[in-house]
Parts: sequence; structure tokens; C-alpha cells
Amino acid sequence: AKQEGRASTCFFTEGMQPRSVRHLQLEAHLRRAIERDELLLHYQPQLDTATGRVVGLEALVRWRHPELGMVSPGEFIPLAEHNGQIVAIGEWVMRTAAQQMKSWMNQGLPPLVMAVNLSAVQFRDPTLPERVQAILNETGLPACNLELELTESVATGNPTAAIVMMDRLHALGLRLSIDDFGTGYSSLNYLKRFRIDTLKIDQSFVRDIHSDPDDRAIVQAIIQMAHALNLTTIAEGVETDEQADFLRANGCDMLQGYRFCRPIEPQAALLWLQERTAQ
Ligand code: C2E
Ligand code: CA
Ligand code: CA
Ligand code: CA
Repeated sequence: AKQEGRASTCFFTEGMQPRSVRHLQLEAHLRRAIERDELLLHYQPQLDTATGRVVGLEALVRWRHPELGMVSPGEFIPLAEHNGQIVAIGEWVMRTAAQQMKSWMNQGLPPLVMAVNLSAVQFRDPTLPERVQAILNETGLPACNLELELTESVATGNPTAAIVMMDRLHALGLRLSIDDFGTGYSSLNYLKRFRIDTLKIDQSFVRDIHSDPDDRAIVQAIIQMAHALNLTTIAEGVETDEQADFLRANGCDMLQGYRFCRPIEPQAALLWLQERTAQ
């Protein structure tokens, strides 16, 4: 979906005219999406592989446009990254997700880690640590209950600056993970210097675990390397028992995917959490 988003920003490719019109339309409407209250978050649980207990949730943004209907983040996030709107959207997402987790904790749920996706554009903003700290202060969410999901692309261009930023974010006391791990181009040398806690094994490696020995080998290698580097692993896109069994047998620490729960709206997430965390 990410690649599709990028490709569709070429306005003059033959056959893409209808899409580019849609893009311009989306872009104009996205500008007011926050103030018109059209954005919302869905939450997807992340489970401890060994115990099956929920340990965290990933916040995934949704855009419900009054006429266009639901627009997928795979479509509007690349657009927002391209025109800079992602900074305001990303900040709204972080504040809303932090408020949500704090409110669930106030309602008696055990503290969980709220994972928020961070665009490389946000990551390059030198004031990002202050912005994150302001959101933590404002919402009262302890930093240890917040995780930021970065992609390998944050290191392109200026890896040293990326490492400095990771150190600054980490110093706030929150957790950092590398999302879609294995799909980017970051070298192992950078990985060694990245101050991160978790590797998220991309769902493209998880999908064909049952049929593709290469994917099995890659997943095993990522888990072993992560553990050797003292990093936690989480697999995303887990849809079947077979995939979960393989990941469990190979020591993957956490699981996330439709097999356990789809991304769901806040009210449904609260019910799900209450059920799963009841004694
Ligand atoms: P992602 O961060 O890799 O998120 C995982 C995507 O996989 C989500 O798609 C999720 O709904 C989907 N998914 C979860 N479990 C399964 C499964 O078992 N099978 C399959 N096939 N898919 C599964 P979604 O919500 O459409 O988000 C797409 C992408 O949009 C995200 O990929 C992320 O890159 C981006 N995104 C979403 N919310 C935000 C946000 O708040 N900020 C930023 N910067 N990006 C976001
Ligand atoms: Ca993610
Ligand atoms: Ca991912
Ligand atoms: Ca992905």
C-alpha cells in the first residue's frame, strides 16, 4: 500500500488521471479533516506470545469523510507526508492515543503500551522530543506507556541525525520500535547504533510462513539477531494458528494480527480489553 501511495503521486503517468484528480480532492479535504473531527483511531491489540496476555495496542488512524466515505491510511498518509499535513495529523494521533490509554488506565485497566506510528517527516522535526513531552505532560500518560513505531526510512539521508533523535526520544523514557523491519535498506551497522527496543517483523514475511521456506528462514534469522542485540520481537499480520505456532516455536516475543483481533474502535477495544484482562 505504501508503494502504491508513492507511485500514485506521479500525476502524469498515463491511465492515472482519475487517481490524480482524487488526490487533489483528498488533499484539499484533508486540510480540514482534523478541525471537522473526521479523523478517528482504531486500536489493535499486541499479545505476549508465551502467555497470550495483551501487553499493548497499536493506534491506527482512520479518516471518515462525509461524502467520500472511509479513506484508508495507505492512501492519505503518503499524501499527508508529501504536503506536510502529516505533522498536524501525527500530533493529533499521538495526543488522542495517549489520552485514550490514560483514560483506560483511569478506568482501572492494567497499564499497557500504546504504540503510535511516526512518519519520517515528523521524525526529522528537531522539536519532536519537546512535542512528545508536551503531550505526555498534557495527558498525564507515563512515558513508559508510550511506544513510537519508526521505519528504517528515518535513517536515509542522515543516519547520524537519526541516531541522535532516537537518543533524545529514548531519554524521555518511552519505547522505540522499528516497523516493517526487513523491507527497508538500513544496514546492520545502523541497527547496532539505533537506540531501539523492538523490531516489528513485517507482515510480508509472516504471510507465507506456511508455504515459503525462505520466509521461514528470514523470520528465524530476524528473531535470533534481535535477541542477540537484546531487542524484543513482534510479528505483525498474524492471521492463522499455523503462523502463530511457528512464531511461538521460534521465540518471537509478541504477536499482532487478525488471528487475535482486528483494529477496532475505542468502545469495542475497551470491552475486548476488559474481557481479556478480567481475573
Ligand atoms: P502498519 O503500521 O504496518 O500497520 C499495520 C497494518 O496492517 C494496518 O493497516 C493493520 O490494519 C493491518 N493489519 C493488522 N493485522 C493484520 C492481519 O492480520 N492481516 C493483514 N493483512 N493486515 C493486518 P492500516 O490500518 O490500513 O494501516 C496501513 C498503514 O498506514 C500502516 O501500516 C501505517 O504505515 C500507516 N498508518 C496508519 N496509521 C498511521 C498513523 O497514525 N500515522 C502514520 N504515520 N502512519 C499510519
Ligand atoms: Ca505500525
Ligand atoms: Ca508494520
Ligand atoms: Ca506494514
